[in-house]
Amino acid sequence: MKFGGTSVADAAAFENVARIVAAQRNASPVVVVSAMSGVTDSLLAATTIASLEGTFRRHEAAARELLTHAKAEEFVEHVNNAAQRIAQLLEALSAEPTRKATQDSIVAFGETLSSALLAEVLNERGVAARQVDARRCIITNDDYTCAAPLMAETFSHSQQELRPFLETGVVPVLGGFIGATLSGATTTLGRGGSDYTAAIIGAALSASEIQIWTDVTGVLTADPRVVPEAQTIERLSYSEAAELAYFGAKVLHPKTIQPAIESSIPVRICNSRAPEERGTLVGPETETSPRTVKAIAHKSGVTTVQITSARMLGAYGFLRALFEVFEKHRTVVDVVTTSEVSVSLSLDDAERLPEIVQELEVLGTVRVEKGRAIVCVVGEGLRGTPGIAGKVFSTISDINVSLISQGASSINFTFAVEEARVNEAVRRLHEEFFSH
Ligand code: ASP
Ligand code: MG
Repeated sequence: MKFGGTSVADAAAFENVARIVAAQRNASPVVVVSAMSGVTDSLLAATTIASLEGTFRRHEAAARELLTHAKAEEFVEHVNNAAQRIAQLLEALSAEPTRKATQDSIVAFGETLSSALLAEVLNERGVAARQVDARRCIITNDDYTCAAPLMAETFSHSQQELRPFLETGVVPVLGGFIGATLSGATTTLGRGGSDYTAAIIGAALSASEIQIWTDVTGVLTADPRVVPEAQTIERLSYSEAAELAYFGAKVLHPKTIQPAIESSIPVRICNSRAPEERGTLVGPETETSPRTVKAIAHKSGVTTVQITSARMLGAYGFLRALFEVFEKHRTVVDVVTTSEVSVSLSLDDAERLPEIVQELEVLGTVRVEKGRAIVCVVGEGLRGTPGIAGKVFSTISDINVSLISQGASSINFTFAVEEARVNEAVRRLHEEFFSH
């Protein structure tokens, strides 16, 4: 059970998490928790210990509200020790060669403190729990600030550390996001890394389910700001979830759940504010629901680029030359379509566009269109269902579409429209595919 920063934002949120964990205590849960919301940002921004005063007070206030006097004082002591250590680290921070390592040691306190507090709260609410230092479980390389776990070591350490607790009915509580090198130096897995911790620990222990508790009810059939009647999707395949991740269903990054996918462990996205709802279950393909279209996702603020060149005809090396330009300017390309003499593609980030266009013009004629949006119809069932494209286009026949592509996985159907008409397109498609 992984709880994000908003799920432990304050005393009331901790209380709620304790209730959710207590309700599942018979299933031998392991709890992974993020830092209290905003704490990682504050720790990263801190240059002086004084600037963290508010952060420490928030922890203390939560502890005083949640714990008995003696336990609260113990925790405050813990916070004071953390503050002292952070003060020393902040002084060391300017040393350039070790800067990232020091940064990780500082930022790790967010998760150490939240997990210590949560373990105490669980104990006081009658759920036997113990904080486990995640650095004893997640073993990584020394790529500070974005360390990669060494899976074999991590699996064996996690099993060794956590199984004894599970066997005796104690709930282990770990901070997400943090790890340590083989020699014990603190590392972190990159921003938002707690989900990754949860997936790794779940895989190491062959969990029956990995639950990601957040503040939304799973993944929705469309963006609710555009389609108010959007519903929670009950089941998604791992690949469907991966397609949707690009469109801001950022609850689950594909890389994050890789360890779960490799072990075929289902991942459930649950809402801490509505724990009785079942959320969305992301699992192996065989469990997908019969509905052909699962979601209509979209993304605005996209730029499309078209490169046309007769030189492409029958030539080799052209695509490589073209994509090298984007690589050189560190710009991510999303949707790509090609014909014999032209390539069209979409970009989220057009910051380096002027330089890119200049270099592309050596290869052919370049046309840029800003203010575009990508719409993506996703569903495992698209694979074998004829007529979906026809249905999509007839639904929005008065809206111009470009960059039409069916993903290689054939579970998505993607195209670009003018930004000004994307909401309308999404609403009409949602109506067509979901209202009857
Ligand atoms: N606390 C970390 C962050 O804010 C990790 C996480 O929340 O998943 O990035
Ligand atoms: Mg987070």
